[in-house]
Order: sequence, then C-alpha cells, then structure tokens
Amino acid sequence: MESYVVIGAGQAGGRAVEALRANGFEGRIDLVGAETHLPYERPPLSKELLAGDDAPFELMHDAAWFEERNITLHLGTPVTAIDRAAKRIVVGESRSLAYGKLLLTTGGVVRQLDIAGINLDNVHYLRTIEESRAIGDMLKSDARIVVVGGGFIGLEIAASARKRGCSVTVLEAADRLMGRALPSEIGSVFAALHGASGVDVRLNTGIERIEGRDRVERVVTSSGEAIEADGVVVGVGIVPDTTLAAEAGLRVEDGIVVDEFCRTSDSSIYAAGDVTHHPNPLVGRRIRLESWQNAQNQAIAAAQNMHGADTPFEEIPWFWSDQFDVNLQMCGAPDGWDNLVTRGDLTARDGLLFQRQGEKIVGAIGLNRPRDMRFIKRMMTAGKTPTAAELADEAVGFRDLMK
Ligand SMILES: Cc1cc2nc3c(=O)[nH]c(=O)nc-3n(C[C@H](O)[C@H](O)[C@H](O)COP(=O)(O)OP(=O)(O)OC[C@H]3O[C@@H](n4cnc5c(N)ncnc54)[C@H](O)[C@@H]3O)c2cc1C
Repeated sequence: MESYVVIGAGQAGGRAVEALRANGFEGRIDLVGAETHLPYERPPLSKELLAGDDAPFELMHDAAWFEERNITLHLGTPVTAIDRAAKRIVVGESRSLAYGKLLLTTGGVVRQLDIAGINLDNVHYLRTIEESRAIGDMLKSDARIVVVGGGFIGLEIAASARKRGCSVTVLEAADRLMGRALPSEIGSVFAALHGASGVDVRLNTGIERIEGRDRVERVVTSSGEAIEADGVVVGVGIVPDTTLAAEAGLRVEDGIVVDEFCRTSDSSIYAAGDVTHHPNPLVGRRIRLESWQNAQNQAIAAAQNMHGADTPFEEIPWFWSDQFDVNLQMCGAPDGWDNLVTRGDLTARDGLLFQRQGEKIVGAIGLNRPRDMRFIKRMMTAGKTPTAAELADEAVGFRDLMK
C-alpha cells in the first residue's frame, strides 16, 4: 500500500489528510508540521481571539480524531529537504520519511520589514496563534498601538484593538486602504468606517523606524513624525513558503506552480493552499490566493487527485473580512476595477459593487450582503450575464437572475 506524506499542518494540510481518509485511502499518512499545534484555522486570530470576546482557540480536530484515523502526526517538526530521487523527506539533521506521493501545504510566511527597531519587544507580526496571543496581551485598554499596513489583516487588528479600548494608528504607504485587492470606492468606505470608530488612519505614510530602549516607545513615519506607541503590529502581507519546493527543483513562480489537478512539476508531488500558483479557468488565468476557502477546497481536491480522482480544481475565489460591524465579502479575482456597477448604498455599508468584463461579472464585493453574495458566487460560477441595469436594481432578485 502506498504511503502519503503531507508537509505543513496548517488549514490545507489538516483538510487534506481528512479528505484522504474520507475518500477511502487506507495507506499510511504522515502529517508533518513545523508548528507545535494540531492544525487550526487562522481567521479568528485577528478577529474573535484578538477582540477579547472570550472566544476559545479551536483546533480543526483533536489528537484522538487523528489517532482514530491512523494519521501519524509529526508536530514541531520542520522538514528540511525533499529527496525526490529517493522519494524521501528529511526531517531535522538526519531523520527521513519515505513517500509514495507527497503533498506540500507550506502556506506563507509574513513579509518582514528591514528597519531599525523591528526586533524591539512589543513589535509583532501575525500569522500564528502564539503571535495572536502576544498581540492580545498588548491590547490593554488605553494602550497606544500602531498598525503598519492597511490591508485586511492590519485593519482587522485595528478594529479588534479599538474594541479593546486601545488608541490605534494605522500607517498605510499607499493612497488607499486594502488597495492590493480592492478598488478605491471600497477603500474610502473603510477609511471612513475606521475614522468614525476612532482609528487614526494615515494614508501615504510609511514607517521609517521604531525607537525605544528595550521595548517600543515610538514609531517614526516616512514624513518624520514620531508617534508614541506601546505596541506595534506589522501586517504587510505574506510571501509563499516555497523554500523546500525550490530547493528540491520544483517549478516555483510566486508560489509552487501546479496544474489543474494540483500536481507540481514532479508528478508524485502535489501542492495546495496559499503556497500554490494555480490555473483557474473561471478567472481565465493563473493566480495565487490567500484565502480560507482556497486552503480548504484546493486541499480537498489535491487529496482526491492523489487518490486517483483526476478531477480538475476550479472555483470562483471567495474571501471575507470582518471589521467593526461590517462583513466584507469578495468573489472573483479581477485584474483591476474599472467597469463598475453599484447596487445599494456602499457608503452606508450596505451594498454591492460589481466588476464586469463585457457582460461577464468577474468580481463582486458585498458590504453586509452575505446572502446576496451566495447567489452572486453561483451566478459567476454558472457564467450568467445579467445586464448592468439588472445588477444595479435592488428590485431584481439574484435568485431570478440565476434562472
Ligand atoms: C490572522 C489571519 C486572518 C485571516 N483571515 C482570513 C479571513 O477572514 N478570510 C479568509 O478567506 N482568509 C483569511 N486568512 C487566510 C487564511 O487563514 C489562509 O489562506 C490559510 O491559513 C492558508 O492555509 P495554508 O494551510 O495554505 O497555509 P498556512 O495556514 O500558512 O499553513 C502552512 C503550515 O505549513 C507549515 N510549514 C511551512 N514550512 C514547513 C516545513 N518546511 N516543514 C513543516 N511545516 C512547514 C507552517 O508552519 C504552517 O503551519 C487569514 C490569515 C491570517 C493569518
């Protein structure tokens, strides 16, 4: 019986081993992860777990669940190399494990800032539960927190910190919030939301250095201003963790390059989750996503294909973010936002924005419209082509447009 090894015990790794067993694979499964925890999902780390809601830290499954399914766990165990010729992975200095097929779910690592003071106490990034807890410890009422980066993670941290009574400044080097993924029409709504909630949002403002004796005392911005601070959180994106794959000679290009079956350039090695650069026929190009949905569903697809399914993976990308009382959802991955149709009232945080390419919807953003977004995703998957007038008209139901 063949044995499968999964490297990376995050969300994608956890879902993949679950899917392998659910799809009837009875051989040996080893799940190897650098973190000391059983697999867990990260979205609560910047939301419930940080906002002081007393939300418990939940694992995807407990240890007994893995034991019952005969999945061998190697936690706190970074893999140092893949020997493709011998079909073995190397753990630490000398231990190795054989694989028949290998799945890489190594995710991403935070992009680091190379500035003076970055190693001072009370300066944090956010990717792991330990980092979330360390940030949570800083969020005492009245603490002065500077968040570097006005993307999704930075803004969720800012909202959580405000909920805890901190005074919060967000520094964003670009001229708008969440500008990497979203248009200025949405960035401005969130700038207003954060401003009205007491966050000091500084656009066109980078960070020059952090000052302090042992712990952070102040942040100096690109315009030379000093902002007194008790804590700093840096959220300036992630880079896909392709080190192992690249060293093993797999094709890497802003992520591990996989085909529609989640196979890398080595047919015995698959990859899934944030680390993949994959084709998406519904979007019409290759993309890399950093999203919960993709981590889950691509991992399931990879597991099924490892076990002989031969089913291409394709779905409309979907992402959400919660900030204050706004639930933002986005479908699609448009190249840009320039052919927009609005429905509802975005400034009142109750509306939808569509990006069309010809008649086709290639992107949709919903503010506090979770139900609509479910239908819109289905419409995009089915390739429906409603007119701009229909999309804009609240009287036209999305259920009807699906017909
Ligand atoms: C704070 C936060 C909030 C988020 N909120 C949302 C949200 O609201 N909505 C949304 O859609 N998405 C959200 N995301 C994104 C989502 O969590 C990620 O897309 C998802 O975690 C990706 O899963 P993954 O398994 O591919 O990678 P990861 O979660 O990064 O897991 C990869 C794992 O591989 C391990 N690893 C790496 N290299 C090795 C090695 N050599 N040996 C052994 N192990 C290794 C790592 O330690 C890690 O545990 C959020 C992410 C964060 C950090």
